[in-house]
Amino acid sequence: MPLIDLHSHSQCSDGSLSPADLVALAVRAGVKALALTDHDSVDGIREARLAANGTGLTLIAGVELSAVWGVHNIHVVGLQVDIEHPVLKAGLAQQAGARAERGKLMAAKLEALGMKGAYEGALALASSPDALSRTHMAQWLFDAGHVSTIQQAFDKYLGPRKPAAVPMPWASLADVVSWIKAAGGVSVVAHPGRYDMSRTKMRQLLQDFKALGGDGMEVATATEKPDMVAYLGKLSQQFELLASQGSDYHGKPAPWIALGRFPSLPAGCIPIWTAWGWPATDAESVLSRELTA
Ligand code: AMP
Ligand code: MN
Ligand code: MN
Ligand code: MN
Repeated sequence: MPLIDLHSHSQCSDGSLSPADLVALAVRAGVKALALTDHDSVDGIREARLAANGTGLTLIAGVELSAVWGVHNIHVVGLQVDIEHPVLKAGLAQQAGARAERGKLMAAKLEALGMKGAYEGALALASSPDALSRTHMAQWLFDAGHVSTIQQAFDKYLGPRKPAAVPMPWASLADVVSWIKAAGGVSVVAHPGRYDMSRTKMRQLLQDFKALGGDGMEVATATEKPDMVAYLGKLSQQFELLASQGSDYHGKPAPWIALGRFPSLPAGCIPIWTAWGWPATDAESVLSRELTA
C-alpha cells in the first residue's frame, strides 16, 4: 500500500471530514505523509498541521486550484506551498470571490426550474459561501429528492452545458502555475485522465503545462484503471513531468474512495517528492524521515 497520499479534501472545500478528523483517519489508515489539497483554499492547513503534530504523520500543505485552459476546466494541485505567501493569498481570494458568485447564479437557475431553497440548502452544507461547490449543490439536490443519485445531479443539472451550469471565470493555467511557484510549491496536473478530452488534447495540455513551468502530473490516482495509470506513467516520462499519486479522498461525497488506497507509481516514473529532497520510493522516503525524526 502506498504510504504517501498527495491529494485529499476536507470540509474546507467539498470533503466531509474536518481537517483534524481527516488527519486522524490518515494515521489510522497507515498513511505516513498526507497532502491536504482543498479546492481553491488553504483554510484547513493550520488545523491539519496541529492535528498531525506528534502522530508521526507528515502533513504537506497543498491546494487544488481550478483553472481555465481553452474550453476546459483543469485542476492543478500545488504541494509544499507557503500558505501565507501574498501572491497565493491574492489568487485564492480571487477564486473565492468567483466561487461565491457562482453559487448564487447556480442556485438561481435551479430556483427558476422550480427547486426552491437551493441556495440556503447548499450553503448549509458548505463551510462558507466562498467554499460552496457543485458537490454541495449536488448533495442538496439529492437530499431534497430532486435527483435519485449524486451522479444524476451532475448529469441532469450541474455538469457542463446542463441547465444549472455556470461557466466559471477561474484563473488561467499560467496564473495558477505562477501562484504556486511564487509560494515556493510544486505544481501538478490533477487527474489528467478525468477531463473530457482526446489523448491528443491531453498531450497538448501536458506540453503547455510543462512550457509554463509546471512540475508534475498525477499518474496513480484511485479512480484510474491500470492501463490508464501505465499510460499516464509513460506520458510523465515523455514530457519530463514528475509523477504524483493520491486518492482524491472526499469522504461521504465519494464513498468508494479510501484514503491512501490507489495503485503504485509505474516503474521508471520519477516521484514528485524527489523535488523536495525525499528518496525515490515512498517506503524508503518514509523510513528515512522516521530515522531522522
Ligand atoms: P466545483 O469545483 O464547485 O465546480 O465542483 C467540482 C467538484 O464536483 C469536483 O471536485 C468533484 O468533487 C465533484 N464532481 C464533479 N463532477 C462530478 C460527477 N460527475 N459526479 C460526482 N462528483 C462530481
Ligand atoms: Mn471535489
Ligand atoms: Mn479535481
Ligand atoms: Mn480533488
